[in-house]
Amino acid sequence: MYDLIGDVHGCTEELRTLLTTLRYEDVGALSNGPEVWEHPEGRKVVFVGDLNDRGPDSVGSLFLAMQMSKHGSALAVAGNHDDKLRRSFKPGSKIQAKHGLQETLNQLSGETPEFRAELAEWLETLPYRLMLDDGKLLVAHAGLPEKMHTSEETGKMRSHALFGDVDGKTDAAGLPIRKDWTKDYSGSRIVVHGHVVVKEPDIRNNVYNIDTGCCFGGKLTALRYPEMEIVSVPALKAYSERAW
Ligand code: MN
Repeated sequence: MYDLIGDVHGCTEELRTLLTTLRYEDVGALSNGPEVWEHPEGRKVVFVGDLNDRGPDSVGSLFLAMQMSKHGSALAVAGNHDDKLRRSFKPGSKIQAKHGLQETLNQLSGETPEFRAELAEWLETLPYRLMLDDGKLLVAHAGLPEKMHTSEETGKMRSHALFGDVDGKTDAAGLPIRKDWTKDYSGSRIVVHGHVVVKEPDIRNNVYNIDTGCCFGGKLTALRYPEMEIVSVPALKAYSERAW
């Protein structure tokens, strides 16, 4: 019923290949406009966030996800990169366009004002967490500990959903130090997230991290739910530098 897809980061070609592998078809070319992908059995894609930045075609990835979402064949939660792009559209925004955002903004400057407005409006609709399948499945970009699954939506919850349990400290390589909440997770609800780049999907205590670093030359990964099968396609190249 769901195909959860990890951080796309502008890897639109790989995303199309993954959708095809999962047996989605681009029916949009026929009637509803381009990039409207549908599954013959009515399955839905769930994007775990970070559609843009770092890869070659952020506009294409955002457009595809927006088209599917409007068609009803995809859901998405906000990632920290989508959230920053969303905030950059606000009048008087003082966003620092780092970590690939400037490239996305450059790509967007070549699009029409109507498209940018439509995208800004769509990004506003993205939730920070999604509860699916009668509460058996929770999706948040950086995951969420159980106490934040159904709590009121607070700043702390939003920050955890976007960035994980961080306090601004970084390690020797300059990467944020994160407290690992997954080792203490004992819930029966399945939690699916991205955000933390891993070579292979990281699965423990009912928590699934499916960000396999496509934009860094890894792969783009889907988790088929409820089958719990992993389907990945390799990156066509490394578009962005990273110490693995
Ligand atoms: Mn990411």
